[in-house]
Amino acid sequence: MKTYQVNEEGYYGNFGGAYIPEILHRCVTELKEAYLKVLESQDFQEEFAQLLRDYVGRPSPLYLAKRLSEKYGCKIYLKREDLNHTGAHKINNAIGQVLLAKRMGKKRIIAETGAGQHGVATATVCALMNMECVVYMGKTDVERQHVNVERMKMLGAKVVAVTSGNMTLKDATNEAIRDWCCHPADTYYVIGSTVGPHPYPDMVARLQSVISEEIKKQLQEHEGRDYPDYLMACVGGGSNAAGTIYHYIDDERVKIILAEAGGKGIDTNLSAATIHLGKLGIIHGSKTLVMQDEDGQIQEPYSISAGLDYPGIGPMHANLAHEHRATVLAINDDEAIRAAYELTLLEGIIPALESAHALGALPKVAFRPTDIVVLTVSGRGDKDIDTYLSHNPYQD
Ligand SMILES: *Cc1c(COP(=O)(O)O)cnc(C)c1O
Repeated sequence: MKTYQVNEEGYYGNFGGAYIPEILHRCVTELKEAYLKVLESQDFQEEFAQLLRDYVGRPSPLYLAKRLSEKYGCKIYLKREDLNHTGAHKINNAIGQVLLAKRMGKKRIIAETGAGQHGVATATVCALMNMECVVYMGKTDVERQHVNVERMKMLGAKVVAVTSGNMTLKDATNEAIRDWCCHPADTYYVIGSTVGPHPYPDMVARLQSVISEEIKKQLQEHEGRDYPDYLMACVGGGSNAAGTIYHYIDDERVKIILAEAGGKGIDTNLSAATIHLGKLGIIHGSKTLVMQDEDGQIQEPYSISAGLDYPGIGPMHANLAHEHRATVLAINDDEAIRAAYELTLLEGIIPALESAHALGALPKVAFRPTDIVVLTVSGRGDKDIDTYLSHNPYQD
């Protein structure tokens, strides 16, 4: 049977693999040999499930949004990752990887972060598990995301402000990889999305797959069938989308709609729509679509949402788009903002700006009245209130 899951060599079709410097070869091989054994062990599964339940607050609700459904003429369920501890889906992955690191005998955790959400999730889990934690963050982002920096510090993490390049996520990632090269024996690198060299994309997808596992059970309870007609999610690197679709990826009854950040528009040079604009290249150890100029220099992406402005994309999603298994829509800043206000006023839920991109795709799909749609609200919007207030579409 045809599958859209990763193959033995770490590829999704032509995308993925592990393009890494020689010095990291042992680390990545060690991880590749450990991750499935650990993730499939009973001991890991029990501790992971217990923490997801008692610490994160899972299962997250599958909420039938009645007023939103009425507006779009179908039945829309929201998968409420915004209700997780720390406010987004990222904690699922952080807990899983730190549990793995402990079982691999690692003493020190490093991570990269852009908006700070993955840094906060990792620092949170390190506090919980008494692990040393160093978070690399571009200096520009340190200044833009001050509250998250203070949260990480309060949680006991060391935040390193990176001053190379544009001083954003891509540069923070380079610095984290450099650190890993220097401390391969005792350090575990927690990557925050379905990106990086194999086995990271597959590992992160598996750790987030609790989302679709729950959707199956919850849809069965609500609807008497365990699959929807549509799954919708936003994509930065791709982890909340991967978790949402994981158990449905080879089930062609289920249509997949992914929303990437169009920024000011895909024809404006101010965009983060990697699947629309990227070309095949290598970024952070993975062969995938990359936003690059004619010389292969990585282009700085732009989005109003700090969590979506990554110049690459997970190899799973690049392949889903290439194979037309998923429909990928570029949702612009103004469309996302409008969608965030709409959800807030119709349902009393303020979504993260990232999640608002998934909501912004709703008006672009021709639903039938019988369609069942599950849309993942990847995070809550508290962190984005200033942006929302300064872009209020109801006020001019
Ligand atoms: C980080 C983040 C994203 C984007 O990351 P993915 O790996 O694509 O899921 C989306 N939503 C929220 C709330 C985030 O914090």
